[in-house]
Amino acid sequence: MELLKIVELLDGQPNATRRAFIMEHLDALGVRYAEQPYATGTNLIVDLGRATNKIGVGTHFDRVLASAGANDNGSAVAVGLDVIRRHQQAQSTAGVRVFFFDEEETGLLGSRAYVAQHGVQDLKGLLNLELVGMGDTFALWPVEAARRGPLLQTFEAVAQHRRISCHRFDQIVTNTADHVPFRQAGLADAFTLTCITSQDIATAQAYYQALAQQADTGRLMEILAQAPLFRHYHQPTDTYEKLSEVTLSMTATAVWETILATQ
Ligand SMILES: [Zn+2]
Repeated sequence: MELLKIVELLDGQPNATRRAFIMEHLDALGVRYAEQPYATGTNLIVDLGRATNKIGVGTHFDRVLASAGANDNGSAVAVGLDVIRRHQQAQSTAGVRVFFFDEEETGLLGSRAYVAQHGVQDLKGLLNLELVGMGDTFALWPVEAARRGPLLQTFEAVAQHRRISCHRFDQIVTNTADHVPFRQAGLADAFTLTCITSQDIATAQAYYQALAQQADTGRLMEILAQAPLFRHYHQPTDTYEKLSEVTLSMTATAVWETILATQ
């Protein structure tokens, strides 16, 4: 299935329907999954290949009510499903755990519940996906210049080899996503990947400058509206037609090649 088609099918659906869609898709692929119910939601977890020392790939399927939830984060769900499909097709033994977290938008509740129950001992690292359907450039965050890690550096090497520009950011407007509970539990090689354009990078810089000068919220929103990515963030306009199949498959390829090269 085209990745953009997956995003289209998820667009605007209630979170429970989005989760059910993922389960149906996994059933169709013949892939087993585990449901992790917790107080207020249910995560889906797919284990592939070797039992220990797995590479984590993070996505969340919930959306904010005001938004259709295409780039945030149907895009990541589509890429996560495609990584599973590639693993299946290659009959790979690579140890991978793909997460479809619930309730990221309401305080990282799904990923916190996962880490609280299972810890991070059997994970090598976490490559978490957020907004990966627009743009031609990879942004890794929160990743300061001095940070090292096998998963992080392998991803950067894969991007370089494919001549895709890849930048590190201490934060991107927000600095919270599902990597946070994993880092807090001691998994150092955990970070988030977002796809952006060079216009978004310029806009982010202007945003931080304005923030440092204590600009008001109206002005900050005005700045964000100039960026292709941030314009639709958590808005009703975050719909599948804004996304690009090229960007989605570029991301899936980079994640898959990183998995193969990290073994
Ligand atoms: Zn998100």
